[in-house]
Amino acid sequence: MTNLNITDDSLKEKLVAYAYDNSDAFCYGCYKVVKPNAAGRCFCPTCHSDDLMRHVGGVGVEYGIDWVVESFIKANCEAIDLETYYGEWLSEIYSEPVKICGSEFDQAWALKQLDPIAYELGQADMISANLDDDCWIEIDGEYYTVDEVENFLS
Ligand SMILES: [Zn+2]
Repeated sequence: MTNLNITDDSLKEKLVAYAYDNSDAFCYGCYKVVKPNAAGRCFCPTCHSDDLMRHVGGVGVEYGIDWVVESFIKANCEAIDLETYYGEWLSEIYSEPVKICGSEFDQAWALKQLDPIAYELGQADMISANLDDDCWIEIDGEYYTVDEVENFLS
């Protein structure tokens, strides 16, 4: 699984806490969910191992917590539609539609037809800028806004 790339420590902390609350400890050797004891400690009652994985119903079983966080974001937040977002972003910057021989064209559509490389590079720049500014989170090649992730947590 990928490494969770969230630079906002308090957001990451909240996500990890949510992930622990909404997943179970799992003993792979005995292949079963392990409930924490009264003191909140987790070890397998059968083999006494505390080398436990995490289990998310319907998703899977794996070591670590980052993949649990990612699975909850993917299940609860909508990935950004890059084409739509980029199109809106371009039309905000270049408010005038493209005019060719008296006809008007949507900015993003025209750029994509006339210079697909510039279109791709521009979209890649927009993605990098949003990731650098900590506005977006990337999971498996999809992007989610931090705002939406915060909404889902609250
Ligand atoms: Zn066990």
